[in-house]
Amino acid sequence: MSNVKETTSDDPPLYQIRISQRAKRMQLKVSPLGVIEVVLPQNINPKHVPSFVAEHQHWIKQTQKKMAALYPTAELLPGSLEFAATNQQWRLEYLEGKCARVAATNDILRVYSQDDKSAQKALQQWLNRRADEILMPWLHNVSDELGLTFKRTIIRAQKTRWGSCSSSGTISINRALLFMPPNTVRYLFIHELCHTKEMNHSVRYWALVERYMPDYPQHEQILNQGMRAIPRWALTT
Ligand SMILES: [Zn+2]
Repeated sequence: MSNVKETTSDDPPLYQIRISQRAKRMQLKVSPLGVIEVVLPQNINPKHVPSFVAEHQHWIKQTQKKMAALYPTAELLPGSLEFAATNQQWRLEYLEGKCARVAATNDILRVYSQDDKSAQKALQQWLNRRADEILMPWLHNVSDELGLTFKRTIIRAQKTRWGSCSSSGTISINRALLFMPPNTVRYLFIHELCHTKEMNHSVRYWALVERYMPDYPQHEQILNQGMRAIPRWALTT
């Protein structure tokens, strides 16, 4: 479900839209990771965004290059981390340590390592463990609540899929769901659990999904756009 096309250099740049009450005109921002944000004043129709972005392609590319030079390890090692799913936020500290590991307090993650590469690895492994701890029991709860059962679940790191359900009843869950809002995570679980009844996207299937989550199209849309907002270090293994 929710396949996100991989981009190539020929594609127009991907961007996020933030609606602003204060902005008077459209603005472009580029984060240290190269993520493009369009600030959209409330009174401007979103249909104008694609052409606005296209017109500023050159500026975007230049700024992304500048950001990459300014923040060479931003992509590898984030300065902060937020799980929308659980409303948790951390500031990251990188420290010297013989054994690469992550120590978490309520709001600080201390990553001990000897180099950037092993720090990133430790962070990814920490993310895997959080996904196991948080997403797996959550899926089981939704399964119990709906009375839709599955055989097995696995956590995956994938760039193009949020989840899947096999005919043998194995549900795969993308660990990047931790970065999505809680109701959207719930929707993904409902989406996959409904596949245990209907292995397709037929009218009957969507009627079943709708029964459990009437506002599902909204979450389907968040997932379709959402992969773009996931920090890149979290999409690789
Ligand atoms: Zn599906």
